[in-house]
Formats: sequence, C-alpha cells, structure tokens
Amino acid sequence: MGAYRDFHARSIEQREAFWAEQAELVDWHRPFDRVLDYSRPPFAKWFVGGRTNLCHNAVDRHLAARGGQKALVYISTETGAERAWTFRELHAEVNRCAAMIRSLGAGHGERVLIYMPMIPEAVFAMLACARLGAIHSVVFGGFAAASLAARIDDARPRVMITADGGLRGGRPILYRPMYEEAIRLAKAPPQKVVVCNRGLDPELSLVGGRDLDYETLRAAHASEAVPVEWLESSEPSYILYTSGTTGRPKGVQRDTGGHAVALAASMKYIYAGNPGETMFTTSDIGWVVGHSYIVYGPLIRGMTTILYEGLPIRPDAGIWWKIVAENRVSVMFSSPTAARVLKKQDPAFLRKYDIGSLRHLFLAGEPLDEPTHRWFAEQLGKPVIDHYWQTETGWPILSSVPGVEATRVKFGSPSFPVYGYDLKLLREADAGEAGPDEKAVVAIVPPLPPGCMTTVWGDDERFVKTYFGTFRDRQVYSTFDWGIRDRDGYHYILGRTDDVINVAGHRLGTREIEEAVQAHANIAEVAVVGVADAVKGQLPLAFAVVKDPARLATEEGRLAEEKAVLDTVDRQLGAIARPARVHFVNVLPKTRSGKLLRRLIQALAEGRDPGDLTTIEDPAALEQIRGAVGGKPD
Ligand code: AMP
Repeated sequence: MGAYRDFHARSIEQREAFWAEQAELVDWHRPFDRVLDYSRPPFAKWFVGGRTNLCHNAVDRHLAARGGQKALVYISTETGAERAWTFRELHAEVNRCAAMIRSLGAGHGERVLIYMPMIPEAVFAMLACARLGAIHSVVFGGFAAASLAARIDDARPRVMITADGGLRGGRPILYRPMYEEAIRLAKAPPQKVVVCNRGLDPELSLVGGRDLDYETLRAAHASEAVPVEWLESSEPSYILYTSGTTGRPKGVQRDTGGHAVALAASMKYIYAGNPGETMFTTSDIGWVVGHSYIVYGPLIRGMTTILYEGLPIRPDAGIWWKIVAENRVSVMFSSPTAARVLKKQDPAFLRKYDIGSLRHLFLAGEPLDEPTHRWFAEQLGKPVIDHYWQTETGWPILSSVPGVEATRVKFGSPSFPVYGYDLKLLREADAGEAGPDEKAVVAIVPPLPPGCMTTVWGDDERFVKTYFGTFRDRQVYSTFDWGIRDRDGYHYILGRTDDVINVAGHRLGTREIEEAVQAHANIAEVAVVGVADAVKGQLPLAFAVVKDPARLATEEGRLAEEKAVLDTVDRQLGAIARPARVHFVNVLPKTRSGKLLRRLIQALAEGRDPGDLTTIEDPAALEQIRGAVGGKPD
C-alpha cells in the first residue's frame, strides 16, 4: 500500500500544500490568503480570507456543464412518489425556498431549524439556507418535543421549517403535536413556522401570525432569484446536535470553506464517485451522514443523489437493489444495522437486480461485525468498505481510500487513517502510544483537518474541555472510542470510552435517556445502559427506583408502570431512545461518592464478569441488578 501511505504522509507532513491543492476542487469567489491559521490551538481556521458558498458549489457551479443532468432523485416507498430534479430545476427550487426564508427575516448568520421527514423540501431548505448564509440546524424527525425544545433554545432559530408528518412502514408519524409542544416548552421559540402539508394530519391547523403553508409561500416567491451570499471560509454553515455524556446535546458547528473542500476531496478519494454518476446514501437528513453524503458531498461532486423515504425491506428486501439498478448507482452508503437486517432476509434479493453499476458499498455509524461484513461482500460480489467517523468530523477518519489505492479490505476493520488525520492510539493512563494489538483511545493530533467541527455552538470552552481534555499533559482530540491496530496497520473500533450508546447507528447519551425517564413522576432514580443486540448493535436498558412502590405490587401494576415510563421517553426524546425494558429495583449500584456504576450494570446485564467491585457502596444493589436481568442478558 505504498501509494496510499505516501498520500497520507504528505497530508500530514506538507499539510498546507496538500490542502491548498484540494481547495482547487471547489469554486472560490475570493481566493484565500492563508491555508491554515492555527495561532489559537486547538481552534483551526482553514482557508482564511477565502470567500465561497456551499449552495453555489453544490448547485450553481454545475449549471453550465450539467444543468440538464438529474441532481436529486426522490423515491418514497411510503407514498409511492418518485420525482427527479435536474441541476437547473434544483437551482430554481432552491432560489424559491431562499426567497421564502428571506421573506421571513432569516438571512446571513440567522439560524433556521429544519425538522422534517425525508422529503425534497428538506433538501431545498438546507441548500436555501446555505445560499443565504443562514445557519441550518436540522433536527432528526424521530426526536420528540423535549429534544426539539432543547435544540431550539440552544440554536435560537428565527424560522422553523417542518411538515405535518413523516411515514414509517406506512404509518404516519405526526409532527404537529411535537413541534407545538416544543414551541410551548421553548424559552425562545421561532417567530415563524413553515409547514409542508403532506395531507397526513387531518387536524393540521396553522397558527395565525406564526405559521405559513409551504406551498402558498412558495407560490408567492415562485419566480424570485436570490443571489449567493459569499461567506468567509470560517463562517458557520450549520449546527448539528449530537449526544455526549451530559444530558445536554452539543451543537457541532461546521465552517463553510473547510467543509466544502473536505467533502469534495472525500467524494473523489474515498467514495471514488465521478461527476455524472449517482450516489445512494440510505441515511436520514437528520444525521451527519445525510448532511454530508445525501446532500452536500454528491452535489458538490456533480453527482446525482438519491433521497429515499422508506424501509430497506418494504415492499420487499430487494428495494435498495432495484433502486441501484434503475438509477445506475455507482456509490452506495448504508449502515451495519441495515446489513444485519438484510442478512435475515432471503439472499436471493441481493441477486435479483443488475447491480453492475455499483462500484463500492460503504458502511458506517457503528461497529460492523466481521461475519456480517464477510457475508455482505460475498453475497453482493462488490467491495464492502467499513469506514469510521463521527458527527464531529463530518467525514471519514478511518477508511480504505480506493480513489487513491485499492488496498485489501480486512473484514471487521475500517482499514487506515484517512489523509488529513494524524491519528494515534493513546494509552488512557499516560497518553503514550500503544503498540500493535493494544487497546487504546483513538485520538487525533490537532489541528483537525478541514471539514471537522470548529467549535461547540456558542461554547468554545466546552469544545476545548470536552474534546481536548482527556489527557492532562497532551492536547489531543479524543474520539471517545477505543481502538486497536493490528500488525498490518489495520484498525478496529472496540466501542465508546464514555457513556454514549449506539442504537442502530444512532448515537444516544445514557444521561439524556435517564433524564427522559425521570420526567415520569414516580421515578426517583434511574440508570440507563446500552446492552449488546444482535441486530441494532446496542439497546438501552433502564433500571429504575420508584418513589411509590405500591404501584408495582401486582404484575399488571408493574407492566402499566413500565409502559407509562416508556411512553414518557417517547414523548420526551422520541421512540428511538425508548429502552428495551425498564427493570424496577430498590437501589442502584453506586460508588461511595455517589457515582452511578453504569459499566458494572452493563456487564451484569450482558452476562459478563463485572470485574473489580471494591468501589461499590452497597453490594446488595448488585444482587438486585442480577435478579432483574435473571443472571443473563435480556
Ligand atoms: P455519530 O456521531 O452519531 O455518527 O456516532 C459516531 C460514533 O459511532 C463513533 O464515535 C463510533 O463510536 C461509532 N462509529 C461510527 N462509525 C463506526 C464504524 N465504522 N465502526 C465502529 N464504530 C463506528
């Protein structure tokens, strides 16, 4: 793997020259004066003084050469809708949407919250914000009122764009009750709410003076053009909230110039997609994968992107391959959970359609187990590339980089550090470098490359403390993941070092779920841990102490209380965070200083040896957990 090794080495040793070359992959309205300003570590400013715009690079730039090429293909197996927009049509639609947002008073630097299902208007809204220099904050449609309210209060959007609902497996999920409740809870609610009416909510009503119907507003701005706002490279393009160890999600802030360059380079080198080809990413626009590889990445590259609303196995498990065949998809991106779901279906579906156009399938978001990796690659007959990254980085940290060199894939490994990342495996105790096959913390020596988060929205101090405070004597970025490198240089990710859990590739903070459980009036105390699950990777499990145990006296009473707690989580955070079970106990295992021993609970719940028990205050608490889980995993 000489070619890739050299490429990576150059990206670190001649960092500025390397990134100056990559910057040529995008258009600059004004050239940058300096490639990197790292005068205030760990804050890195890329392409200082340069002016550019993400919407210009994703849409306008392609009008001359590929205006008639499809830019966006929308396929919904929920409604049966199928529609495509050429770059020219997308340009017109984004202009209209930008005019709509502008008319509501949100322009350069203002925040716009997008709480939407997988419909084209969500993509128009994101690109329209980018055009205006407004900062979008997309909130995943599966999040419920309290999560939404917390994000509103942190980002303080002037405008919210939403819809009457989403659909999942044919079942409508109504958004109005969620956003109404969120607006009621929020201290600084948006002044204007634009609602896409899909006809899913018979009781949809617009609040006078606040709400506007998307279609009506669109009609009023149908022929308007909005000039691109040229932003200085470091100006924020978006905020995306992600979970950590506290109950308060962090607003990951991304810049403009570094973001555009990083995505353009990743499309060329990692995904090896060519202009004019098609990319199909099965994620949701509410997650970072959707931001980077449904919307911005493929469009910046001049590729057609597919926006898919639906499940991987409905109407049957062949649907994704049908989409690949019909749209001649060359690059596909999905998740290990989806792979495990498909593995349970008839493998004949994987061979039913002609997927000859497909070059690579990428998977990310959670650990990909070796048997699933092997199974998928063998069944598909295509290279399946596991790659590892985070909301914070916005693009891959570990991957095979086939656009530079087609290195051999080892099943179960996301291969090598990606160019731009000075990745180290550091011992937890002293920040020393780990040897081969030694488990250690995956860390990145700053400056972080272009496209990575530049700070926590509104909280520089939290950015430094959270991400660069793991090791006392060394300011390095911690991914909060454990990793290991084998003797051939291949890396493996072994799970989180913190209390974050990963359910089907969705990152959830145990503390966040605990707070949601505690919103139920009868809960005195609760511990939430992630336990291994064969399909979703992990599932949350709750152990709760109630205030009034009388309600649990009968089996019906216990079941009713468990359901009430689960419903509370659904209402607060959303069903994605709902624990698989709530076990009621009298006491939770804690240290003498009162710290919850979550890892010990997790070990017991997974039927593992809990290890050192000397710090525990009340050993009886352990027996309660053992009893609750029946001495084995649930
Ligand atoms: P998110 O920010 O929601 O994308 O979650 C990022 C986290 O997901 C990482 O810190 C890892 O714990 C996990 N993750 C993402 N991709 C992979 C992968 N390919 N292998 C193992 N874990 C992964």
